Amino acid sequence: MPVAATGDYDDGNIFARILRGEIPSQRIYEDAFAVAFHDINPQAPVHVLVIPRGPYISWADFSARATDAEIAGFVRAVGQVARDLGLEEPGYRLLANAGVHAHQEVPHLHVHIFGGRQMGAMLPR
Ligand code: AMP
Repeated sequence: MPVAATGDYDDGNIFARILRGEIPSQRIYEDAFAVAFHDINPQAPVHVLVIPRGPYISWADFSARATDAEIAGFVRAVGQVARDLGLEEPGYRLLANAGVHAHQEVPHLHVHIFGGRQMGAMLPR
């Protein structure tokens, strides 16, 4: 079920549990601000999720409440992971769903990194 992009952070969401190490993930990157792991249901040959360590629901929540250091650290981590994956050429797609219209399913901010194939049109019509 899609979730609202704002509201109280749910500490029991699946990415909070991954951050606490309560459930397994295929981590490929971590630093003080961010963790990246493979999506459990990949939509492309490369499908990685990058999440901030802090308790933020969405881009709106993160941009309003996170510190400058958290924001810089997270944005740099997304770029670093894409570079580490070797996606700079021929390119990749970033996606962050927020709220019901975007069909956000997990109420912890995450940026999808898609790569490894031609992505096609940006959105279905
Ligand atoms: P979204 O619709 O943007 O909220 O995307 C949530 C993503 O999280 C989906 O692509 C799921 O396949 C992925 N996902 C859900 N549970 C897990 C998990 N335990 N490990 C890795 N990815 C997951």
